[in-house]
Amino acid sequence: MATPLSAAAVLAALRAEGVRVVEVGDWRTHNRNHKGAWGPVNGSIVHHTVTKGTANTVALCRDGHSALPGPLCHGVIAKDGQVHMVGWGRANHAGGGDPAVLAQVTAESYGSRPPKPTRGNSNGTDGNHAFYGWECENLGDGKDPWPAVQYDAIVRVQAALIRAHRAKGDDWGLDAKSIIGHLEWSSDKVDPRGFAMPDLRADVAERLAHSASWNPGSANEENDMPLTTADLKLLCTEDGIWPAPKDASDYNPDPKHKGHYWALGTHIAVQSEGIRAVRREVAANTAAIATLAGLIGTGVDTAAVVAAVEAAIKDAVIDVNINTQEA
Ligand SMILES: [Zn+2]
Repeated sequence: MATPLSAAAVLAALRAEGVRVVEVGDWRTHNRNHKGAWGPVNGSIVHHTVTKGTANTVALCRDGHSALPGPLCHGVIAKDGQVHMVGWGRANHAGGGDPAVLAQVTAESYGSRPPKPTRGNSNGTDGNHAFYGWECENLGDGKDPWPAVQYDAIVRVQAALIRAHRAKGDDWGLDAKSIIGHLEWSSDKVDPRGFAMPDLRADVAERLAHSASWNPGSANEENDMPLTTADLKLLCTEDGIWPAPKDASDYNPDPKHKGHYWALGTHIAVQSEGIRAVRREVAANTAAIATLAGLIGTGVDTAAVVAAVEAAIKDAVIDVNINTQEA
């Protein structure tokens, strides 16, 4: 239970977490605070929109419709991973839900899932004061894919909220159990469809074990990952030098290749030689062209032209070999 983050605080937290934020109009003050309480907050709810197209999805979530005025959430998490902030404060997203769920989310006392809700939008307790809400652009038919970049943004947004509340010293958001799906809140809801909430909570927890700037899968991250035997086999096979043996008896018997199968060093050596060969070819062509250009209009015979070009190529290739320490 905690005082809600300010608009400025959530914006800073999202950006620190690597979320690409789009600020929509007067989102910082666009809310339903005149209709009811906002806070204390106990968690965050993930939804799907049942819409297609980011622009109209964002407009709908900001403005709402005749039966349900906007904002319908705080941020729209689009297919491309951008998060469009449409409101801050009380929003019409959680509706009614099960008080038993609220109690367990507040205490973060449940196991992998909160108790199955037995109350819904029509007969439940108000959730709009207690939860941040995130509408994710998806048809919700179980077939519309969730792009990795969008799922990653969902994880980042939830981690950012928890991290910001932790930094503020709140007891809210001690772990990822503060994050639930709408279907876990209301008995009459099915969203989000396409991923399991325990998996999302595990991914949020994993993210919280790292710093806000963590970028799994980035170049820095890859450097820490050892190549597997299968990776080495693929790399060296694609070098086209030593075909991958079918089994232990199929190894190249040449003793100078002993122990060099599928080795990273072998792969790098082959690649380096390939680069040197290309440099030699480029240098040779450049020297030949320059020599030919110098001979235009001088009236020398063909044999002299060929000799001059060949000499220039030889010098250029020697230069490359010296410069790459391979004379
Ligand atoms: Zn929903």
